[in-house]
Amino acid sequence: MAVHGGEDRQKPGNSITDPIFCTATYTFADSQSLIDFVQQKQPREEYARYGNPTERVAERKMAALEGGESAVLFCSGMAAVANFLLAKLRSGDEVVLFDECYHRTRQFCVQELGKFGVRTHQIPACDYERMEAAIGPNTKLLISESPTNPHLSVVDLERFAALGKKHGVETLIDATLATPCNARPLEAGIDYVLHSCTKYLAGHNDMLGGVIIGSEEKMEPVRKSRGLLGTVNAPHNFYLLLRGLKTLELRMQRHNENGLAVAQFLESHPRIEKVYYPGLPSHAYYEVAKKTMRGFGGLLTFVVKDADWRRTADVVDAVRLPRIAPSLGGVESIIEQPCLMSYHDYTKPQREAVGILDNMIRLSCGIENAEDLIADLAQALEA
Ligand SMILES: *Cc1c(COP(=O)(O)O)cnc(C)c1O
Repeated sequence: MAVHGGEDRQKPGNSITDPIFCTATYTFADSQSLIDFVQQKQPREEYARYGNPTERVAERKMAALEGGESAVLFCSGMAAVANFLLAKLRSGDEVVLFDECYHRTRQFCVQELGKFGVRTHQIPACDYERMEAAIGPNTKLLISESPTNPHLSVVDLERFAALGKKHGVETLIDATLATPCNARPLEAGIDYVLHSCTKYLAGHNDMLGGVIIGSEEKMEPVRKSRGLLGTVNAPHNFYLLLRGLKTLELRMQRHNENGLAVAQFLESHPRIEKVYYPGLPSHAYYEVAKKTMRGFGGLLTFVVKDADWRRTADVVDAVRLPRIAPSLGGVESIIEQPCLMSYHDYTKPQREAVGILDNMIRLSCGIENAEDLIADLAQALEA
């Protein structure tokens, strides 16, 4: 499905790959063809804010991979989040989300939607009882990430979906860390699945993108809203996404193997206090992960024993293979210290409130050889 899904068998110019259509607009041969297009709702393009042929192929492939009817692509994961929420919510509505959701998603809900009279309730991750208690007559959406980042908590997708169905509230899962290879939110009854394509889907640390998949009926207003807000991606990126998706399953197999091997190595290392990885039996969400995931991904977080932020930074600096950078899910391994990178605009008490410790390191295992990654981490911890 990753290789052929969503593609026409015979393509423009008899090309085996889908070409890039570098165009801002599309021409009509004469006025009658414009009238026919409008009156008969012909399936052709009109203007690039409303669609692009390569984008449609990438959207069909994403819908096929998730087992959903309709996918809508955006210029980044955050554009997908923001556009979706603006399309679905109005003043007076309420959103309930788990507090380990992507921090910019939480910030968008609280700060930006707050300006328009939308209220956000933040519930401790995976506390389903408190989530249910927070649902009221104005609640429109339940949102969570799964697995979460950087704590790798895993949502029981069927339980989450059942909670929404019981109260007539739609559910959205940000499954960026899982990918369609490792989790199946729509099959579990979730209404919408969201990904930052920037991460595993495109997979090569070379583009930004976002996607949301759901039923045709539920996604139609979101697609219309994208045409209005203009949060569309660029022609070259549709191609890069398609190119990346071709190897999604192969890459995920390696990311899953590397994640598990590195997590097991770190857990056995005397200088490591704790490892957060859903594939380790010591992880709080191991049982849920075994039930809801096919593989556990390449992202893991570990805590260095008896270290302040400086001694922890020394470990990061001693690593030779992974690069210091934000982001995750690409072929290159990436290492970061959350207190210095993603959470640098938080005070220490604010960080501690969301479980970000000074001696925490987040590692996104790429597709290098596991032995090379482990040998590198071993020498860094030794140093
Ligand atoms: C990166 C990320 C986003 C945001 O995506 P961008 O493409 O960076 O805008 C949203 N959710 C999760 C889980 C992410 O990792």
